[in-house]
Amino acid sequence: MLLTTERIWRLSVLALTFVALSTWTPTTTAQQSTEVDGYSAERDRMVQTGIIDWGISDSRVIEVMRAVPRHAFVPPEYLRQAYENHPLPIGYGQTISQPYIVALMTQAVGVESGDTVLEIGTGSGYQAAVLAELAEHVYSLEIIEALADRAGDTLRDLGYDNVTIHHQDGYFGIEDKAPFDAIVVTAAPDHIPQPLVQQLEIGGRMVIPVGPVGGYQTLWLLTRTDEEEIQAQNLGGVRFVPLTRRER
Ligand code: SAH
Repeated sequence: MLLTTERIWRLSVLALTFVALSTWTPTTTAQQSTEVDGYSAERDRMVQTGIIDWGISDSRVIEVMRAVPRHAFVPPEYLRQAYENHPLPIGYGQTISQPYIVALMTQAVGVESGDTVLEIGTGSGYQAAVLAELAEHVYSLEIIEALADRAGDTLRDLGYDNVTIHHQDGYFGIEDKAPFDAIVVTAAPDHIPQPLVQQLEIGGRMVIPVGPVGGYQTLWLLTRTDEEEIQAQNLGGVRFVPLTRRER
């Protein structure tokens, strides 16, 4: 049903092999500060029980999840739950995603060091930080201005200077920064936005939850194999907030 809404591209379902790059170690700002932020033991526990034990195997992703201070992205009243493996409210009816889902999407989309990445749904900025640890540059679009502003402050305070946040409807992507090597959509539309497909580099990957508002969605990994062809892999059932269409 999902795939028949595709008018432009021919979709075919193929299996995907995850490539684990065991030799990579991150050397970025957040990584260097983990020893002194007072939460590294909790973060290590979260990574073991909520990420490794749940099947995430890409060592780069595991290291980054160990490095990014999730507690800096949650509201003060949820600080004590910052390293629990579930989503948390961030205000305006939105949530910071569950750590496992952030790791799953990051692993699936396969970000490499020279990549330019687009994220739709900045929210707290946490997923953007995780992507920024791996990519050359991350553009992140957020439809709620107050969240875009707050995430921008958080990321700046943590020293992420390779993330650019824009307050705008992510449905249309950012045409003048395209093509993107990877696109991560963290709010759920009921169909695949064609502007985003068109902004994917050949060989680029997009991870996106698609499904009805208020229901469960399917998490898809799309790979643009050439001008005309997209491969799609079903990564399973997920629950995201809906992709809305009016800026607030
Ligand atoms: N990635 C976030 C979690 C995002 S929750 C994090 O790591 O914290 C989904 C976010 O998508 C919400 O902040 C919501 O406001 C935003 N959103 C919903 N529809 C959008 C749209 N059309 N364009 C951009 N952002 C959108």
